[in-house]
Parts: sequence; structure tokens; C-alpha cells
Amino acid sequence: MSAATSFSPTLVLREGTSGRRIACRACGHDLAAADASWKEHAVLDEQPLGAAGGSVFRTDGDVLLRRFYCPSCGTTLDAETALPGEPFLVDRVMG
Ligand SMILES: [Zn+2]
Repeated sequence: MSAATSFSPTLVLREGTSGRRIACRACGHDLAAADASWKEHAVLDEQPLGAAGGSVFRTDGDVLLRRFYCPSCGTTLDAETALPGEPFLVDRVMG
């Protein structure tokens, strides 16, 4: 197994023959190159924020809750709020 460093609580960075890669911490599934948008390779669930947790999360407008899951093991990798059509928030490692 190649050495891995932490990218987030749910993702790791690995050095491979094709450069640094982002992988699921739970199962090791390879998601994307470190300089790519790993969220494009995750399973996306998008729903109105108000439906996520009851009245406590009620919002004005069309705020969405996006949840990103590992396509291999189903672990929740990240979550973010967004308006419809907004691009994903970008997580990148610099340097
Ligand atoms: Zn996984």
C-alpha cells in the first residue's frame, strides 16, 4: 500500500505512478487526480435543505444540500449548501 496523507477527514492523498491521487479514506477507492475536482467522480445526492433535517433547517429560497458519497463503499465524503445550478465548491491541495 502506498503512503497516504490526510486530505480531509474522509479523503486521503496518495502518491502513485500517475502522480498524486485523491482516494476514499474508508475503502481506498481512487476518485481523481489531486488537481482535479474529485466531487465530479463521487455519487451526488442533492435535495432542498429544508427536507434534510426538519424545520430547524428551513430556509428562504431554493437552498440545496449536496451530499457526496463514495461510489464504492457509500461513505459520505463531504456535504455543502448551494443554490440551484451553482458549481461545486472546489477543494484543492496547493503545492
Ligand atoms: Zn469508499
